[in-house]
Amino acid sequence: MTGQPLLNVQGVETYYGNIRALAGIDVEVHRGEIVSLIGANGAGKSTLMMTICGSPQARAGSVIFDGQNITRLPTHEIARLRIAQSPEGRRIFPRMTVMENLQMGAGLDNLKYFKEDVEKVFAMFPRLKERQGQRGGTLSGGEQQMLSIGRALMARPKLLLLDEPSLGLAPLIVKGIFEAIKKLNKEEGLTVFLVEQNAFAALRLSDRAYVMVNGKVTMSGSGAELLANPEVRAAYLEGG
Ligand code: ATP
Repeated sequence: MTGQPLLNVQGVETYYGNIRALAGIDVEVHRGEIVSLIGANGAGKSTLMMTICGSPQARAGSVIFDGQNITRLPTHEIARLRIAQSPEGRRIFPRMTVMENLQMGAGLDNLKYFKEDVEKVFAMFPRLKERQGQRGGTLSGGEQQMLSIGRALMARPKLLLLDEPSLGLAPLIVKGIFEAIKKLNKEEGLTVFLVEQNAFAALRLSDRAYVMVNGKVTMSGSGAELLANPEVRAAYLEGG
């Protein structure tokens, strides 16, 4: 890999009150990569995602995005730099329709591209097209996940952050969602940073990955290397 990473997280420490959830994290994501962060429940994966988005902010270290130090920026300014997030739990607007959710994702900045971008999202997830007038809260878990990703894409992100897209979904649905992510990456060159407890699916999808334990990165490598690594296999892949 050459050149400046698109996202460069250096020595990041994040606290909840006096409790240190991230204890000096170094992570890089380069343009065009799919990078995943795997680790057990409570390792700090979501906290890292949220820290990149500015809430909570890092107490030490830095987050550099596209050459700019965003560590102390408020979340709405970070979003305007085109970091879009599909957060843990999806957080779609349950009383709004699918179409209205997508409008919220586009925001005012991208309304001129709305028609074109909606068609792209519908091509990726035809179920959303069928359900475009339905309220978000009435969708199945898989459809809500598609909507959460679709809404993030409407922001025309340079970096897409996905927090546990497979959570609570049947294996076949997970496969479809991961295939959609791969397609976005291959065809549109979208850069993706993914948090997952489903280590097997994440590592198969990813160019590179980091393993996180108790607020620290303990291992990193290509997806294939980590899939073959005995420690990773024992901790995250076997019997899981
Ligand atoms: P999960 O897969 O369960 O979301 P995770 O790896 O994403 O796990 P985090 O949610 O980032 O882990 O949590 C990291 C640590 O920070 C955990 O010990 C958790 O209990 C703690 N934590 C998370 N959110 C808060 C909060 N709002 N207040 C206090 N402690 C928190």
